[in-house]
Amino acid sequence: MPLHVETPLLQSRILGRRAGRDVWLKLEALQPSGSFKLRGVGHACEAHRERGARRFVSSSGGNAGLAVAYAARRLGLPAMVVVPESTSARARDLIAGEGAEVLVHGRSWQEANARALALLGPTDAFIHPFDDPLLWAGHATLVDELAAQGPRPEAVVLSVGGGGLLCGVLEGLHRNGWTDVPVVAVETEGAESLARAMAAGRLVELPAITSVATSLGARQVAPQALAWTRRHPVRSVVVPDAAAVRACAAFLDDHRLLVEPACGAALAAVYGDLPALQGLRSVHLVVCGGAGTTWGQLRGWIEGAP
Ligand SMILES: *Cc1c(COP(=O)(O)O)cnc(C)c1O
Repeated sequence: MPLHVETPLLQSRILGRRAGRDVWLKLEALQPSGSFKLRGVGHACEAHRERGARRFVSSSGGNAGLAVAYAARRLGLPAMVVVPESTSARARDLIAGEGAEVLVHGRSWQEANARALALLGPTDAFIHPFDDPLLWAGHATLVDELAAQGPRPEAVVLSVGGGGLLCGVLEGLHRNGWTDVPVVAVETEGAESLARAMAAGRLVELPAITSVATSLGARQVAPQALAWTRRHPVRSVVVPDAAAVRACAAFLDDHRLLVEPACGAALAAVYGDLPALQGLRSVHLVVCGGAGTTWGQLRGWIEGAP
């Protein structure tokens, strides 16, 4: 039995009026772990358990780590999440609250990740936050649900970090016969690893992540994400942090849901009527969610924005 829930697909009249086109919301913010990550992570954890894994290991202090902790608890297996010192007390607390062991190691994610890999035992399964076909197959269930829930999408708008969600949605579009539905792939300035790769025609490693949308903070996308852009219409969009956080605030007013700036990036593309959306009468927006942002933080970003 899958660990994720089927999420609602709602037409947003209020966003539609603002955007001047029909807007359909796929509400992944309602997943029990707070984001779409549970689809892929849940699928990967179940597959690894069937192959004999006795423990799950992750190095994500964000929504992937939280999804691993949630999945482990539901499957009755232990989880260990190794996070760097920079991970917020709140994030550590959310992960520990799911019953996972939280180990703090190193200044950067690279150090925490190296530690997690070094601690892997023979019956442990390492769950990658975005670069794993098992993960993509799980994320693709989002599109299976769209196919059952409503009209054929004219375009899908989503956020891109390492590109796991993008790979999963594209897999889902293709397995449902929607091979020509364009995908608008949105990143924030300072986390634009896909935009850079598409412009260069090869994988590009960003020197650092400078965006507040930390859940989009993969310095390099999964190779498969770039490969997909060569065989499917993918429109890359980059928005400033300020637009992403303003979109979070507008969405909170309009739909009473608090999401991370990582999700605000995709929202900003729709609220902002960006050129990549020109000519579309309707869009399907993946409201990817995120458990890492509080109202106080969002307010602080808005007040501090230029
Ligand atoms: C992980 C995440 C993303 C980015 O997903 P990728 O698969 O890394 O591209 C976007 N938004 C939220 C809330 C996330 O947790």
